[in-house]
Amino acid sequence: MEDYELFLLAMRIYISACIFVFGICIGSFLNVLVYRIPLGLDFKKGSSFCPTCKHELKWYDLFPLFSWLFLRGKCRYCKAKISPIYPIGESITGIMFVLSYVFGTGCQLKLALLGYFMICAALFVTFCIDYKHMFIPDSMWITVLLGGIVIYVDSLITDGWDKKELTNRIIGALVVSVLFYLIAYIKPDAMGGGDIKLMFAAGFALGSVKVVFSLLVAGLVGTVYLLITNSLKKENLKKQVPFGPHLAVGIFTALIFGDSIIKWYLGMFL
Ligand SMILES: [Zn+2]
Repeated sequence: MEDYELFLLAMRIYISACIFVFGICIGSFLNVLVYRIPLGLDFKKGSSFCPTCKHELKWYDLFPLFSWLFLRGKCRYCKAKISPIYPIGESITGIMFVLSYVFGTGCQLKLALLGYFMICAALFVTFCIDYKHMFIPDSMWITVLLGGIVIYVDSLITDGWDKKELTNRIIGALVVSVLFYLIAYIKPDAMGGGDIKLMFAAGFALGSVKVVFSLLVAGLVGTVYLLITNSLKKENLKKQVPFGPHLAVGIFTALIFGDSIIKWYLGMFL
């Protein structure tokens, strides 16, 4: 390997590590949103404390992921166990951000990366809240739409104005959301309004081909999920399964890996 290539690789690993740390910090904030949005609480107010001993937590107890690892998942003051769900959520956000950098923008630090981060963050919150509470907050699909607009503006800066690009995104916004709207019209219980709005926003971010791909992935993930939960036959099996978490996984897959997977798939026939 040439010296220059080695330097470039070292730089990219260093930037990835920085993005991971940034991601787990954002993830820590997203954990707060997941907890507070369904309760209608203000996410800015109140200091954090241990739910068991009520001891107020200092900044060094609250550093994402690392505090939990350092304290081995226990409260510093009363040694009560702290759920690993928080560091897991933080790590997932960190990994999503790094994947956005490596595969989303091809290791380029450009404006589009901000759009990717916004969409990933909103998908994480959508996944958690819809899974637990069966609704998608408006603030989340709006964040996905804003992220899509940021990615679009970046393409305007890089490639200049192209009527096809905008048409593709508008068709993308409508193709799945209109389909969902019709399904909801025919069978009102089948589809939530949140799913329709989420796919409208994601469609603009993804464009017409990748949004259809995201729906295929969501269907696949949903099928696997139902097969697993049905085979476990838990008594407390929920009657209605929210579609949002599966859509979030599909949108994320299409956003980060969509171009590569579609290219690879078409390559088999050409
Ligand atoms: Zn405690």
